[in-house]
Amino acid sequence: MTKKGIVIKSTGSWFLVKTSENEYFECKIKGKFRIKGIRSTNPVAVGDQVEFTVVEQQIGLIHHIEERKNYVIRKATNLSKASHIIAANVDQAFLIISLTNPKTSRGFIDRFLVVSEAYHIPIGLIFNKIDLYDDDLWETHHHLTELYTKIGYTCVSVSAISGENIDKLKKQLEHKTTLFSGHSGVGKSALINALHPESQRKVGNISGIHLKGKHTTTYAEMIEMPFDSQIIDTPGIKEFGLYDFEKNEIAERFPEMRALMLDCKFNNCTHIHEPGCAIKQAVEEHKIDDIRYKNYLNMYNGEEFDIINYE
Ligand code: GDP
Ligand code: ZN
Repeated sequence: MTKKGIVIKSTGSWFLVKTSENEYFECKIKGKFRIKGIRSTNPVAVGDQVEFTVVEQQIGLIHHIEERKNYVIRKATNLSKASHIIAANVDQAFLIISLTNPKTSRGFIDRFLVVSEAYHIPIGLIFNKIDLYDDDLWETHHHLTELYTKIGYTCVSVSAISGENIDKLKKQLEHKTTLFSGHSGVGKSALINALHPESQRKVGNISGIHLKGKHTTTYAEMIEMPFDSQIIDTPGIKEFGLYDFEKNEIAERFPEMRALMLDCKFNNCTHIHEPGCAIKQAVEEHKIDDIRYKNYLNMYNGEEFDIINYE
């Protein structure tokens, strides 16, 4: 018997697939199959729509993957040419940010945004832990949300603990599949629990023997919300910022630079040292944020990001 479903969890060799009748099957991949044009370490990812043959009770063999609307990918390692597909068929990507305890760096935020621009999906920033803000943090928060909203990114500010604005966040997530990213400690689990208290337990319980207790920390997992929304939780995103595009493609992934770069005197302008550069001029005139520009230079020079420069 053949069935269709969506991959909601993976260990790399086993996949938890949910059918439209809300049945769950633990599946393996039938033989080996490759997807044209992608050299990836995992052929099937969370979010994939698949077709499988039922081989035993609740066990299946995946033999077909539907064409993906999109997929979020990262290089397997910095040196490797192979890639790891984080998730497929994603409607939007949100980064969870904490301004305190721990601090998400501006460099990390900008790197996330630049990498996410490639997917051509809406991108949002969730500022969590607003219950911990003092006056200085509110000022920082105001500055950042104004800056990023103006560039075109959705900003939502919440507290997973007090519950403030969780309803606003729900509205942003309704009827969509959203990728959640964020450094460990920013409150990703707390937020998912605040959005739907039973969510995680449910996913854990329906896993059968093959997926239960397995180390799935390097794989994403789809969590179903009761308000017609799927959240794809992506653990271990340290490498999320590894990108695979050319230096000269970085500036166009800064929307506020993209809007101005046609005005540069040279059409191969790197926006670093050239005369007549519209970007440098905009930075001098404070029309482009100087930290965004510094982060551009850091990315251009291939530097690591751990500058927490919003103090
Ligand atoms: P994760 O690693 O991103 O999943 O982070 P957790 O959800 O485990 O949260 C890390 C710590 O931050 C825990 O001690 C949480 O209780 C705390 N935390 C999460 N969200 C909030 C929040 O909105 N306000 C406060 N004060 N603490 C929070
Ligand atoms: Zn320029």
